[in-house]
Amino acid sequence: MSDCIFCKIVAGALPSKKVYEDDEIIAFHDIHPIAPVHILIIPKAHIVSLSECENNHQALLGRMLLLAPQLAREHGLETGFRTMINTGRGGGQEVFHLHIHIFGGGDKLART
Ligand code: 5GP
Ligand code: ZN
Repeated sequence: MSDCIFCKIVAGALPSKKVYEDDEIIAFHDIHPIAPVHILIIPKAHIVSLSECENNHQALLGRMLLLAPQLAREHGLETGFRTMINTGRGGGQEVFHLHIHIFGGGDKLART
């Protein structure tokens, strides 16, 4: 198996608090949440980052993005939520398997 921790989560070799799964996507709680609700949406396939996405990933990316409001609703983020995709070292990416952060809850999020 690859050294990728998110691939290990997909394979069930590492535990996670899963909140969604289908044939192409899983979503689970971030291990170090920066807000009361902090969920990661990832493709099951190992795609390194947004920079490695190609035209054949359009439908997958659309489905991942459309999952965000659904999961936000399901986790009580009625007043809104923030999405974030860190891309590459310069973009603050630490886990090199594409993921969308969704977070919110509690007080109004700061803009930074
Ligand atoms: P990045 O900086 O790459 O956008 O964010 C990676 C995120 O993955 C971080 O918020 C970090 O807390 C989370 N993370 C790293 N390792 C694990 C893990 O083993 N399990 C879970 N659930 N989240 C992780
Ligand atoms: Zn991976």
